[in-house]
Order: sequence, then C-alpha cells, then structure tokens
Amino acid sequence: MAISDTQGALAGGRSYLAIPGPSVVPDRVLNAMHRASPNIYQGGLIDMVDTLIPDLKRVARTKAHVAIYIANGHGAWEAAFANTLAPGDRVLALICGRFGQGWAQMARDMGLDVEELDFGRASPIDPARVEAALRADKEGRIKAVLATHVDTSTSALSDMSALRAAMDAAGHPALLMADCIASFACDRFEMDEWGVDILVTGSQKGLMMPPGLGLVFFSEKAAQVRRGLARVSPYWDWTLRANPDEFYQYFFGTAPTHHLYGMRAALDMIHDEGVEAVWARHDRLARAIWAACEVWAEGGALKMNIIDPAQRSRAVTALSLPAPKASDLRAWLEANAGVTLGVGLGFAMPSEPAWHGYFRIGHMGHVNAHMVLGVLGSIEAGLAALDIPHGSGAVGAAAAVIAKG
Ligand SMILES: *Cc1c(COP(=O)(O)O)cnc(C)c1O
Repeated sequence: MAISDTQGALAGGRSYLAIPGPSVVPDRVLNAMHRASPNIYQGGLIDMVDTLIPDLKRVARTKAHVAIYIANGHGAWEAAFANTLAPGDRVLALICGRFGQGWAQMARDMGLDVEELDFGRASPIDPARVEAALRADKEGRIKAVLATHVDTSTSALSDMSALRAAMDAAGHPALLMADCIASFACDRFEMDEWGVDILVTGSQKGLMMPPGLGLVFFSEKAAQVRRGLARVSPYWDWTLRANPDEFYQYFFGTAPTHHLYGMRAALDMIHDEGVEAVWARHDRLARAIWAACEVWAEGGALKMNIIDPAQRSRAVTALSLPAPKASDLRAWLEANAGVTLGVGLGFAMPSEPAWHGYFRIGHMGHVNAHMVLGVLGSIEAGLAALDIPHGSGAVGAAAAVIAKG
C-alpha cells in the first residue's frame, strides 16, 4: 500500500490485523489453499475431507457429531436452531454482550419465543439466576438454553460446566447450546465433559482460516430432537452433512474446495502443537496483555472491561478510554504502526460520541509472543503520541509474563 497522508512512514512492512476476527491466517494455511481447483468427484479431496471430521472433534473435545456449512458464524447460529426448534418453541437466552443479543434476536426472527436473562456488559453468566429461571419453568416449556462462551464484544468468559451443573440442579431437560465462535481453540472448552449439546463455531477466529465455514457440533440428544421435528429446511439439515452417504452431502452441493485444504492445514497446526498447548499459549499471551493493561490503567484513562481475570477470555480483551481517545488510538496505530485494533461493540452506537471510547485487542489463533509484544509496544507508543495518561512499565510487565509465566 502506498504511504498516504493517513499512513505514516513507520507503518510499512507487514500489517497486523489485531481484531477479534477475522484473525491472522498463517502462511501454512494460505499456502495449502494456493492450488489448482481439485476434482470434486474423485481423488484426494474426498479422502482428505474424511480426515477433517475426527480432527475437528478433537478440538471440540467431543465424540458426537459435526456438520460443516459454507457460512459464517451467523449461519452456524441459524443451523443450530433450524435443526432443533420449531416456531413457537421457547428458548432461554443468556446475554453478556452484543453477540448474545444477536443470537437472541435471530431466535426471535425465526419465530421462537425468547426469554432473556441479561447479565450486563461486564459480567459472565450467573448460573444461579439460570437455575432459578429453569426451576420457574414448571411446565418444561424452555427447549434450549443459549449461552455465549465468550462474548466477543465484552470479552466476558462464562463457566460452561457451572452452567451445566445449574441446569442439572434444576433437573431441566433443555438442550444446552454454546456459541464458541470466539473461543474455539483459544479458551478451554470441553464439549462432552461439560454436557454441551450444541457447539457452534466458525473458521475465521481460533481456527486461523478465512471466514466461510460454519461448524455445528451436536450431541446424540440433539440428534434425537432433530429426528422429532416435522420439517427442517434442507440446506440447514445436519443429518446427511454429519453422516453422508455420498461426498456431495457433506456440503449439500459443491464442496468449499480451497477452504477445506486450508482447514486441513489449520488442524495440522493445532494438533502438531496440541490442543492443550494451544490453550496454554493463549492463556500466557492473554496474561501478558492484561499485565500491560493493568499498568496503563494506573494512569486513570484506560480501563479493562472485565475486572476479574477468571472471567476474562484469552481470545479478546475489551478496553475503554475517555471518548474519543479509543478511536484516536486505533487510528494512530493503523497509520503509524501497521496495527489494526478492534472497534468497541455493544457499548454505544457508531453515531454516538461514546462509540469512540471503546476498543478491543484480538489475540486469537495464530498469535505469538512477538506479535503480542509488538501490539503492546505500539499501543504504548500511541498512548504517548496522543498524550493519553498511562502508567509506565506496561510493556516490561508483559515481557515479564512472557519470560517467567
Ligand atoms: C464473530 C462472532 C459471531 C459472528 O460470527 P460471523 O462470522 O461474523 O457471523 C458470533 N458470536 C461470537 C461470539 C463471535 O465472536
């Protein structure tokens, strides 16, 4: 890109999109996609796709089923509903930010009867409130509980095993559906151990791929619910996608050829490193970011949205500065450091002055120590350049976490 008025002399070189999705696509994934179109009727592609299925399940920590859609996360959201719920069915939507709200709105738009529990914009799901809501549902009208594991807008991380325990304590049979679009392959998630019936995710965050593939993992209990529905729209029906007799049934049409090669490479990277090690890397890097943020916060301007570290995602961090300083900082980093930070979502509308007081750091997927330290050093430079008060020693505090854990 040419150096223009808005792009300073220090922004050349490789740019870094440090937003919470799409994330950085590794060269290994890009190279795997860079090939001639393969035959979709016979040969290597067909054998290769079969190998994706067990490797995806190993990331989700499930022995159940998975269906792949040519879709973004919204498509995966819709697929989960299409296979398990009929218009008029009631769902309990647990909301910790913009994404929980969006999934609940989609439920309403599909004719579902939505009961909402809102936990605000700085807290995870409170299992006790969920238990009370389920106990109050004496007739068992609630068919599904919708939980966002990490709400990307607020960076709140909810405890899914505690949520499962609350549902069990209430003795409620609803399906537990988890939106893991932000958290998949970043924050620990144990689908089978935590009794999650449906896990939805997408390709463009922790899976380190371009947007375009939506994944729905589903338990045998959810499969039973599907079998009980009178009609499921054919494109979204997961039955043959998860258990195809013919190759084309995986995708109900032409396979997303190049994305599939990209996914093969991404899964190889994840399993070469090890899922546990991937989670541990995200944890260490997230703690380095938090350490820096806590030091900057001593200056009185910057604030972390989630106070309790146990309630913070390792994939994304939501922050605020007095408006319009957050937008100024994002613009400064893009123009002067080649780093793009995420906008704030869910706290204000783009038309409101307050919009310019929120931003996010994405740290999901193909991220390492030098990328994190680079983003933090760039933010530090931006804070200084813009005369935003901040505590000193933040990058050193992050480096200490990288160095010593
Ligand atoms: C990104 C994201 C979505 C939306 O995914 P799209 O691919 O943009 O449709 C939904 N939920 C969460 C938690 C997300 O992070």
